[in-house]
Amino acid sequence: MDYQELSQVYQELESNPSRLKKTQVLAEFLRKLKKDHYQTIYLLQGKAFPDYSEAELGISEKLCIKSLAKASGVTPDKIVQDWKKLGDLGLVAEKIIGRKKQNTLFSQKLTTKKVLESLKKLPQLQGKGTIDKKLSLISELLTSALGIEAKYIIRTLIGDLRIGVASGTIRDALVAACLSEKELADIEKKKSFTSALQEAYDKTNDFALVFQKALMGIDELTKIELNPGHPIKLMLALKAGSIADGFDRVGKPAVFEYKYDGFRMLINKDKLGSVQIFTRRLDNVTNQFPEVVAYVKEHIKAKTFIIDSEAIGFDPKTKRYKPFEAISQRIKRKHNIDRLIKELPVEINAFDLLYLNGKSLLDEPFQKRTELMRELIKPYKYKIRCAHQLITSDEQEAEKFYQAALKDDQEGVMIKNLYSKYVPGARVGHMLKFKPSENELDLVITEAEYGKGKRTGILSSFTLACKDENNGLLQIGKASTGLKEKEELGLSYTELTNKLLPLITKEKGRIVQVKPRVVVTIVYQNIQRSPTYKSGFALRFPRITHLRDDKGVHDIATLKEITNDYARHELKIHY
Ligand code: AMP
Repeated sequence: MDYQELSQVYQELESNPSRLKKTQVLAEFLRKLKKDHYQTIYLLQGKAFPDYSEAELGISEKLCIKSLAKASGVTPDKIVQDWKKLGDLGLVAEKIIGRKKQNTLFSQKLTTKKVLESLKKLPQLQGKGTIDKKLSLISELLTSALGIEAKYIIRTLIGDLRIGVASGTIRDALVAACLSEKELADIEKKKSFTSALQEAYDKTNDFALVFQKALMGIDELTKIELNPGHPIKLMLALKAGSIADGFDRVGKPAVFEYKYDGFRMLINKDKLGSVQIFTRRLDNVTNQFPEVVAYVKEHIKAKTFIIDSEAIGFDPKTKRYKPFEAISQRIKRKHNIDRLIKELPVEINAFDLLYLNGKSLLDEPFQKRTELMRELIKPYKYKIRCAHQLITSDEQEAEKFYQAALKDDQEGVMIKNLYSKYVPGARVGHMLKFKPSENELDLVITEAEYGKGKRTGILSSFTLACKDENNGLLQIGKASTGLKEKEELGLSYTELTNKLLPLITKEKGRIVQVKPRVVVTIVYQNIQRSPTYKSGFALRFPRITHLRDDKGVHDIATLKEITNDYARHELKIHY
């Protein structure tokens, strides 16, 4: 298929905010794809690889500018000037490559296959002269591109496609593309096909594979199994308003567990005996945690497994547990690992078992999974053990357990349904979190403002956004407090500024727009309805409390969650 055709689809998706319309456009496109071109679906996700893959395009704007200059003959300075004006390198590419095209008679048509192949080559280029090789590859693509094609090639390369398509929309489009008119009219059939497709995606994180199987029918989709070594989407939690609310929602008896203040680790052992560790963002962090690999090998004797767990840090001298921020740097740091292991040791607290010795346990009740897990893991304090747990129907007992969790420096408790299955990727009602400060949200920074006086040159006010069901971002307030002046005291203005500077896309006066990448936890006093922000809400007295390096823009609070919080606040006011 011509890349031009896909570019027109992108354009249509970009200009159509309606999810229904987007689904129709996508479905029509998928129907037209040749049967063996499943991987074109990655391009619709703005990628060249499945979600689980570690390979990233990761092309900087700087390299894109150089490539554009090479392909068009326009100077890099002029490109930067245009970029400042338009605020989107994709639009700049469209303009200058489009202009050039009018003068060029000869042009070789770009196909989706060619674009995908070229993009796939990029992360493979390594060693001496890498930058030059990448530059040649990208400028070669741009030389063959039309204006509209250049726009989307550039946006794909910098990871900012801006077509407003979330995985739920791709899923619905796949359903529409793979079922016949008659099947789609059968509500039950459509529903079960949709949930089979979603499940297959959550298990594999690979839309191309799911597309291929979906075309063969629901039986093939349901045959897709977990594959240790490939990360899956993790089950997510909803908030409970109180212990009593928790019991109401998950039933009695309920499972209470410490909510550890660390970060999530999905620990896999595959058929070949290799241990792989993934974060909730599906990043492979095995190399950063060799000691965890060793604990697992020593304390878990099984051929294959997938364990869901929380890694928490502790002080090597006092042995007191530390908050997440204290160890967050271990996720990213790839050097001096031996020193980090000694200075910032972690303990694994396992809380679920999803796969054991060749068999998926996802559909087993939690009770069975947790029992099997507790038989499997030989616990060892400060290395690996199972989450502290209480199964009870007694509210007072549960309250005591919750207080004990806080006393042990943990965040609160998780409240789980004893009989429910594990649903990857979903915020299901059978796993709840309860902590003291519930006026808390994870949001992404979309804009920031330079300060005055002693904060001249430092970003000191931050505009925050939540997401809608299509992963579109909606602003909800500005925060300028909570941060520290000095780095030793916690998250500082300087640290956040340094994170945001490379992400700036547009500057106007003291205000800068940034790529929505930096996720922070906000504590607020109240939520109000407000016409000022696109979300329709405004946070009162928001404070930035944590930088969430372990979370991506997909993990931020949804408008639905905020609407619920708002309703709960209203209730509290009235009753
Ligand atoms: P939140 O990040 O606030 O949505 O809270 C949910 C997170 O709590 C999960 O993603 C885990 O990383 C973490 N967590 C800590 N302890 C547990 C536990 N015992 N069971 C499940 N999740 C836990």
